[in-house]
Amino acid sequence: MYNIAVLPGDGIGPEIVEEAIKVLKAVGKRFGYEFNFTEALVGGAAYDAVGHPLPQETLDLCFNSDAVLLGAVGGDKWDNLPSHLRPEVGALLPLRKKLGLFANLRPAVIFPALVNASTLKPEVVEGLDIMVVRELTGGLYFGEKKKEEIPGGYRVVDTLVYTTEEIVRVARLAFDLAGKRRKKVTLVDKANVLESSRYWREVVTELAGEYPDIELDCLYVDNAAMQLVKNPKQFDVLLTENMFGDILSDQASQLTGSLGMLASASLGGKIGLYEPSHGSAPKYAGLKRANPIATIMSGAMLLRYSLNLENGARAIEEAITEVLNKYRTKDIMEEGKQLVSTDEMGDRIAGQILAG
Ligand code: NAD
Repeated sequence: MYNIAVLPGDGIGPEIVEEAIKVLKAVGKRFGYEFNFTEALVGGAAYDAVGHPLPQETLDLCFNSDAVLLGAVGGDKWDNLPSHLRPEVGALLPLRKKLGLFANLRPAVIFPALVNASTLKPEVVEGLDIMVVRELTGGLYFGEKKKEEIPGGYRVVDTLVYTTEEIVRVARLAFDLAGKRRKKVTLVDKANVLESSRYWREVVTELAGEYPDIELDCLYVDNAAMQLVKNPKQFDVLLTENMFGDILSDQASQLTGSLGMLASASLGGKIGLYEPSHGSAPKYAGLKRANPIATIMSGAMLLRYSLNLENGARAIEEAITEVLNKYRTKDIMEEGKQLVSTDEMGDRIAGQILAG
């Protein structure tokens, strides 16, 4: 029996999470696994109900589960609240921090049927399968910040801090992942300018000695950004610090077509958090037109990384590959395919798994 905490959140969150649960249940039925799903409030929905975007009860549920599946949080309605009560700042950041999730994994994978949905030429993206590993709880976003008045204006400071331990733990995760993939890690940094980048290189290069079967490459971030659109298939695992990872993972994700296709996993602590890369798309809430595949793929990552159920993860990926040949939600619609709603897409994928 596996316990999964389910945090649907706001906007399209509840409707896309419902489809991921439907698909996970189909996996359970096919392979004989028992999943116990328990829902809790997060984001604006939690603020409206109990006055805080991350209630203690929700945190307790996460800590007592094997994994967390999240929809998305946020919306105009809560944008003017004080920062610590806003869904993103008051719920997502502390949730990641408290669960010790120091690594964010974003796969940029292109499904064969969607090769033409990319803005890049088919031959550049066909077969693309990159994993961006972004350090998530250190660096510029968490270092000391200052804004001081000086004659003539202000002096503003953001501090980029990393410790050996913070680098080693995320690099180890990247090497371990590469070992199960195509055995190549590319460290992205700015070692020609930044002291912190030079140290990342030193630590990661030393660690690579423990992984003789894995090739390590180091690239400056400006070059990496260019290579990502020029020849993205040269990459397997891209390892990088927090801010470069934030930027490059969005860039990599766009190689694959729609935001509605992109899953993510945040790992590092005992309990992993799985969520689509996109937000709560409030304008589509309740319309049943959002693409649930990013959330369903996040469910596949949950099976793979938290529960070690590789056959279940594969079954989901294969079912999506098959279903996309015929059925599409609006964001990935093409001539000759049948347009389906959010729940019909979930039904098709679940049905394919059961038929598999
Ligand atoms: P968004 O990702 O919600 O939506 C951007 C656009 O992408 C949408 O207008 C829609 O056209 C498309 N899109 C996104 N998901 C889709 C899906 N599943 N199917 C089809 N199309 C999809 O980003 P936004 O509009 O900038 O933000 C909306 C809210 O979400 C804001 O409150 C923002 O802060 C929040 N947000 C939350 C998270 C999170 O929960 N992790 C992440 C990003 C943004």
